[in-house]
Amino acid sequence: MSSDEESGRRGLMLVISSPSGAGKTTLARMLMDEFADVVLSVSGTTREPRPNERHGVDYHFKSDAEFREMIAERAFLEWAKVFDHYYGTPRADTVQHLEAGNDVLFDVDWQGADALHDQMPNDCVSVFVLPPSIEALEARLSARLGSTPEIVARRMRDAKAEILHWRRYDYCIVNDDLAEAYAKLRRILLVERTKRLREHGLEDHVRRLLGEL
Ligand code: ADP
Ligand code: 5GP
Repeated sequence: MSSDEESGRRGLMLVISSPSGAGKTTLARMLMDEFADVVLSVSGTTREPRPNERHGVDYHFKSDAEFREMIAERAFLEWAKVFDHYYGTPRADTVQHLEAGNDVLFDVDWQGADALHDQMPNDCVSVFVLPPSIEALEARLSARLGSTPEIVARRMRDAKAEILHWRRYDYCIVNDDLAEAYAKLRRILLVERTKRLREHGLEDHVRRLLGEL
């Protein structure tokens, strides 16, 4: 059993945003590969799956009608229109994961990051991933499976609008060298885990020190 489990740590919500193509999905996957107690919040979306994406793993792919029904049922913690499609974070599971001591990763745009922070300010830690240059961003978008020149052009147009929100985030990572960017993300996770509010076991520990237990 790790010291985290012994102290009854509350999980945190690690909210990651970036202009599309800067590498947030890559970094998030690396974190989940290393830490078994980091889980991904799988969003719902009305966009078409890319060739390498799986339903229920990368996204819950929905029709417009299904998505609207979920909005009506208040099944989303937040939702937004990004580019030409709807994206939303399912409410179910997040709270259980946090209470079970799992960290939940959110890959959402700036609107989603704002909404999640408004709903759960004590649980959210937000990270913005920046590309090293506009040229590198375009190259990464073009190289991604399933991309077309139209999709790349659209996302390049929207990239600057997303970057303008970088000051809203607790941390920023310039994803130039992937190993270095990952090392920074990992440090952020580890230090945020040790915050007083997240260590449930401290309450009892201090009460024992004070002779109250
Ligand atoms: P996002 O989730 O932000 O849209 P992805 O993680 O899908 O971006 O990354 C976009 C593309 O760039 C992918 O093909 C990925 O392998 C590549 N990539 C990510 N980080 C780097 C990096 N530091 N150097 C070079 N290529 C990268
Ligand atoms: P993509 O289509 O490249 O997977 O994602 C497009 C954009 O939608 C990204 O900026 C991503 O962060 C954002 N996004 C994905 N899921 C959600 C979500 O549940 N809510 C919000 N607000 N944005 C999301």
